[in-house]
Amino acid sequence: MVKAVVGANWGDEGKGKITDMLAAKADIIVRFQGGANAGHTIVNDYGKFALHTLPSGVFYNHTTSIIGNGVALNIPILIGEIKSIVDKGVPAPKILVSDRAQIVMPYHILLDQYEEERLAGKSFGSTKSGIAPFYSDKYAKIGFQVSELFDEEILKEKVDRVCDIKNVLFEHMYHKDKIDKGELLNTLHEYRDMIAPYVCDTALYIDKALKEGKTVLLEGQLGTLKDPDHGIYPMVTSSSTLAAYGAIGAGIAPYDIKQIITVCKAYSSAVGAGAFVSEIFGDEADELRRRGGDGGEYGATTGRPRRMGWFDCVASKYGCRMQGTTDVAFTVLDVLGYLDEIPVCVGYEIDGEVTKEFPVTRLLEKAKPVLKKLPGWKCDIRGIKNYEELPAECRAYIEFIEDEIGYPITMVSNGPSRDDIIYRKSKYSK
Ligand code: GDP
Repeated sequence: MVKAVVGANWGDEGKGKITDMLAAKADIIVRFQGGANAGHTIVNDYGKFALHTLPSGVFYNHTTSIIGNGVALNIPILIGEIKSIVDKGVPAPKILVSDRAQIVMPYHILLDQYEEERLAGKSFGSTKSGIAPFYSDKYAKIGFQVSELFDEEILKEKVDRVCDIKNVLFEHMYHKDKIDKGELLNTLHEYRDMIAPYVCDTALYIDKALKEGKTVLLEGQLGTLKDPDHGIYPMVTSSSTLAAYGAIGAGIAPYDIKQIITVCKAYSSAVGAGAFVSEIFGDEADELRRRGGDGGEYGATTGRPRRMGWFDCVASKYGCRMQGTTDVAFTVLDVLGYLDEIPVCVGYEIDGEVTKEFPVTRLLEKAKPVLKKLPGWKCDIRGIKNYEELPAECRAYIEFIEDEIGYPITMVSNGPSRDDIIYRKSKYSK
């Protein structure tokens, strides 16, 4: 049985917490796309952790954590992350890395930095983790697979060939020092020794586990609106953020994915540039940012203040549809307890017409939010375990949004910890 945990929006919806929670009953947790450019924040008995590369299941003894072939693997960051959790008292996790995963090279990170410098004010808001150059090279067929680290002849030839290409850019486009081939080869030898204990054919491993009846969780990074095909191109990430890609990035059959849990936050936040229709500014935004998440809405990787907005029914309905949602996990609802009235975006006005369907970027840029105000509940809902015990206004908020998006909200998260969760039945469940 395979379940996917993915985001409906711009990322930071609380997928880490939901994955960590569901991992209690899972055997294997797989990262299938993305890299160390975004983070998950997890709060549990060991403390508070910001993970970038490790799946959010590493805190249990019974789980195996897999870095799938679809991931942009930054080897020193992965090894550093393993060390950092072990140093905090977490038992050494069982980790497997796909022999088909490709490696983020030092020059990918440099290229990201140089390109942002070159673009100056016109940048795409990259986190400078080398993700875009990494995926460009993967599809240009000059990427390095983990398995290639273990063949000296292939490695040497490839370093030589790829550096010749990269050095043209380094020298003539960015006017920087050229890559030293010998130094790069030494770095790759270090990478090989670091990663060797973890490497295997992870797709085969998962296949065997599924045949034994094990439960596999696919953990997505970012959300639908950052998908290169279905998101707000070009302000997107470089690998697909959709559950469908989980099949490719983990190496399983698409029909094995039985449950798609799409995580939706009770309000909106986004990082990086791009249209954000329900965005708010000034004091209103500052207050929500300060109260948001668990200790404020600031990037887990970059510390950048996140852009804030009201819940966007149009974007979330689309976000859920493109994921193929079977269940919505509605998160961070407790944060809204301070508001007298809570605006939600129920439509986009584009060129004088109101639509509830999420448009292409060109039209999105022109969209103005149509807001509806719902009554607030003005109290702290943390600690509540049963849906019926939530204040009536709070249930009305959830049910209004559920009707707008048309997907079943079966989980409501009312705090950052594993057990801050309320399960509910939905008329939209199939
Ligand atoms: P992810 O990338 O989707 O995992 O999201 P992030 O980890 O960036 O952001 C979610 C933040 O909200 C983290 O700080 C979580 O600890 C926190 N969080 C998750 N669920 C809840 C919730 O229901 N209530 C509150 N207050 N915080 C939550």
